[in-house]
Amino acid sequence: MSQPAVKETTLKGIGASPGICIGKAYLVDKEGVDVIKKYYLKGENIQREINRFNNAVKKAKDEIHTIIENSPEELQQAHILETHLALLNDKMLYGKTIEIIKKEGVNAEWALKKVVSYLNSIFQNMIDSYLKERALDVVQVSDSIMRNLVGVESENIAAIDKRVILVSDDLSPADTSRINLARIMGFITNRGGKTSHTGIVAQALEIPAVVGLAHATTAIKNDELIIVDGSTGIVIVNPSEKSLVEYEERKIQYEDYKVGITRESHLKAETTDGVQLEVMANIELPEEVFAVKDYGGDGVGLYRTEFQYMNRAEFPSEEELFDKYRNVVEIMAPKPVTIRTLDINGDKAIANHTRYDEINPALGLRAIRYCLKKPDVFRTQLRAILRAAAFGQVRILFPMISAYFEICKAKKLLDQAADSLEKDGLPYNREIDIGIMIEVPSAVIVAEFLAEKVDFFSIGTNDLIQYTLAIDRGNRNVADLYQPLDPAIIRMIKQVADVSKDKGIGIFMCGEMAATPHHIPLLLGMDLDELSMNPQSIPQIKRVIRSLDLSDARSFVREALKKKTARGVFELSKDAFGDTLAEVTFS
Ligand code: PEP
Ligand code: MG
Repeated sequence: MSQPAVKETTLKGIGASPGICIGKAYLVDKEGVDVIKKYYLKGENIQREINRFNNAVKKAKDEIHTIIENSPEELQQAHILETHLALLNDKMLYGKTIEIIKKEGVNAEWALKKVVSYLNSIFQNMIDSYLKERALDVVQVSDSIMRNLVGVESENIAAIDKRVILVSDDLSPADTSRINLARIMGFITNRGGKTSHTGIVAQALEIPAVVGLAHATTAIKNDELIIVDGSTGIVIVNPSEKSLVEYEERKIQYEDYKVGITRESHLKAETTDGVQLEVMANIELPEEVFAVKDYGGDGVGLYRTEFQYMNRAEFPSEEELFDKYRNVVEIMAPKPVTIRTLDINGDKAIANHTRYDEINPALGLRAIRYCLKKPDVFRTQLRAILRAAAFGQVRILFPMISAYFEICKAKKLLDQAADSLEKDGLPYNREIDIGIMIEVPSAVIVAEFLAEKVDFFSIGTNDLIQYTLAIDRGNRNVADLYQPLDPAIIRMIKQVADVSKDKGIGIFMCGEMAATPHHIPLLLGMDLDELSMNPQSIPQIKRVIRSLDLSDARSFVREALKKKTARGVFELSKDAFGDTLAEVTFS
């Protein structure tokens, strides 16, 4: 009797690392440590328990060190596993667990579980996806300590000796880095999001990955044939002959495309009529500068500095900040590094004692508002930035300026910070460009006044869209209304660009809008000087710019401004540039 034909099924997740692979599924059975028992300890048993916890942490650290030593060069440069090592030393995770063992007299497993669920609730409440996904790092790190405490071995991914695609509930960056590139073609996981470190490792290894597939481990069986498209987040289980042919072809196209953009990534982003734009990178961790260089970035257009303030109870010291900034600045020199001052609260909470009980934090004591109310915290950062400026090309960027007096106050504090460095006899540089984020509608309206006080504007569309269209940037229910091409948004960008040209200051964009190929004709036609984005998007955007003509883009802007809907602008753009963009991008 012939077997009934198995039906093809398509699953949709989040594309975490581009590329296509076709192969057999290998389900990684990650034996978790699900049931944690609580028990009490007394007297010297408490110290013994602390020693047992310390041993488990040490083993987890040794494991990570071994993985780092044995991983490929590009992965070592990405320094992702260092984040996990740092978490193993972190006061909030490591210190707090020991504190609970001592104070409550409970076993290490129970104390660790309590700390992890507390940290998880903090991270999960954050709207910013990058920070939210740091919760995953906490879970992965604590899992490895837990395994060592309980004595459960994790499956040795390095020992897999077939050419397969891994399917797992979750893979930690440590798991991912153990991947044998000669064997593992790609992977899919139930958990994770676009900015999870697991995805970042997959990108560094350049293997396709789809994450956040929810039920991948139940929908896919061992040895089933699957197609993984890491660019679109599509996974096809038991593909038909037709899908196989289609994806084999797509795979070849992707590989050609990749070779092409990588070869060109260090070329200038110059239009066909000879106008050059700078394509810069947005970074959050100092270690990301290596990726900026690899992807051909013309500098750092936005260094988000919140990360150094997270995962800890105290604010970082001036020395600590200076060290990090100096590192980034020296590595990027002579290219510029735009350091944005602390943009906390709103969607990015830091050390828990600074959290305010605000009903609407996005409209609360956020970013520059917070810094102006906390001059000591602000001064520490300003001094660190001015000191780092002595080692390369630094620009300073103030976030969320919504009124003229704020930039005046911020500049005054910057002057005072410089004077204090002068008094202390420390090397610094006060001749740096000063800019503000344009991300609040009021700043667009008074741009003419603000321009008198600064050297550049950097448009932050992530927030400008949120505040202009009254759409919470992290709210899934209104995500479809979050449209960068909304006529209100493109008119605002045009208005700010015109003011900056008129006043002779720089006009940049560092919001996500700049990382999308079909937005580029519009931004080019509005005469923006610099676009800043996640490092991985740089080669593609540079190539898009090289395919366009400034005068065409300018005429397109004139027509686009007449459109009444985002769809109208999009359709117009598709008609005018659809063919060109299809030729130079991969989608
Ligand atoms: C923005 O708002 O566009 C921006 C770049 O800043 P962030 O995403 O950090 O708020
Ligand atoms: Mg912003």
